[in-house]
Amino acid sequence: MSDEASFASEPAASVPRKAERLSGVKGMNDLLPGDSERWERLEQVVAHWARGYGYRQIRTPIVEHTALFKRGIGEVTDIVEKEMYSFEDALNGEHLTLRPENTAGVVRAAIEHNLLYDGPKRLWYTGPMFRHERPQRGRYRQFHQIGVEALGFAGPDIDAEVIAMCQRLWDDLGLQDIRLELNSIGDPAERRGHREALIAYFEANASQLDADAQRRLHTNPLRILDTKNPAMQALVEGAPRLADFLGEASREHFEGVQSLLRAIGIPFRINPRLVRGLDYYNRTVFEWVTDRLGAQGTVCGGGRYDPLVEMLGGKAAPSCGFAIGVERLLELMRETGEAMPEPACDVYVVHQGDAARTVAFTVAEGLRSAGLDVVMHAGGGGFKAQFKRADASGAEFAVVIGDDEAAARTATVKSLRGADGARGAGKQESVPLDGLSDYLVDALVATGD
Ligand code: ATP
Ligand code: MG
Repeated sequence: MSDEASFASEPAASVPRKAERLSGVKGMNDLLPGDSERWERLEQVVAHWARGYGYRQIRTPIVEHTALFKRGIGEVTDIVEKEMYSFEDALNGEHLTLRPENTAGVVRAAIEHNLLYDGPKRLWYTGPMFRHERPQRGRYRQFHQIGVEALGFAGPDIDAEVIAMCQRLWDDLGLQDIRLELNSIGDPAERRGHREALIAYFEANASQLDADAQRRLHTNPLRILDTKNPAMQALVEGAPRLADFLGEASREHFEGVQSLLRAIGIPFRINPRLVRGLDYYNRTVFEWVTDRLGAQGTVCGGGRYDPLVEMLGGKAAPSCGFAIGVERLLELMRETGEAMPEPACDVYVVHQGDAARTVAFTVAEGLRSAGLDVVMHAGGGGFKAQFKRADASGAEFAVVIGDDEAAARTATVKSLRGADGARGAGKQESVPLDGLSDYLVDALVATGD
């Protein structure tokens, strides 16, 4: 029996089936052309902005030891309790986690590389973070943050500096309607006094607590104030206020921050209920919020975290920082910021014939060396179809090379659009190849590109 015969007797296996389509992971987004230009613009603005305040970039790994976040963020937090992507390395059993935020990682790196040996450091970062949350508008499982960490600074001037940075970034991006909410959560001893009063208050009203709150009552009652449960708002409203438990030094620090903000004209609202979700914060905490994004209106959160460096094994170094949610910022940019111009190239190279293709290929490389953005037609097709692509590319000029041009060492340059969209469009001229880049550079200057 031949192989063919046995093949034919199993038709089900022999019919090639269309492969099943795979989709991305829920809550993790693709960034497509169209939006990616807006990201690039944001990244450019951010790099310039950070330099303007003397902050230098740090890039740390996306994966860290799980223990870092347990210790750095706190065990009784939403993030550590239920949002972390943690796994055991199949090869060596290490407990690892995709970073849910980056302050802990930056501080870990600063300690590990002894960055603070010669004084305080101003650092910034950007990159993806991972939290297993319910995906919805403005809340994703992979999202991105831009963050700033000022390590080793004790005074209120740094709190005001990082807050001023945020305001400037909104201004640089042309964003409006983002307002600042500010609070002081004092120092650990002050919070303990407040905590006892809080527990007493919530115990006296135990029947009104939801399951989350009951669980947190004795572990982290401060977090109950952070509840999003509408049924508990009235109860939370009447709770003892941390502000009444602050000591002299904390009050003075907070006053210092406020007076600097007033001096540079940044308005704020003191929100006594602002406590922030992470354990390591102390004294100043702040959030920037907008009404333009629906329920997920917090664009940026930050504050002081004096205990963290020591908690992670370093020499005590009072510090302050914030993290901006990039997706939320981009949505605001889309809504309120300036429109993004369609990306366009300078030149689209149209060619036909084998000899012409080789010439066109070298011409395209030569034009790129001269600094032009060049798209080379690929995939064959007649001149008409190629010109259609050239138009769609947004190019200012088509450079046409057929076999005649290739033989004569010339190109036909065709203007696809004038400076005002139509003027000069359709004009064409034959240009020798060795003068082509000069010709095009001059022509592009003349069109105002
Ligand atoms: P929320 O209360 O909205 O969950 P958070 O306190 O957990 O916020 P932070 O840890 O302070 O948020 O993170 C700083 C910023 O990062 C937030 O203000 C927000 O803009 C953004 N952010 C946080 N989690 C997400 C997420 N899952 N998807 C998109 N952006 C996020
Ligand atoms: Mg959260």
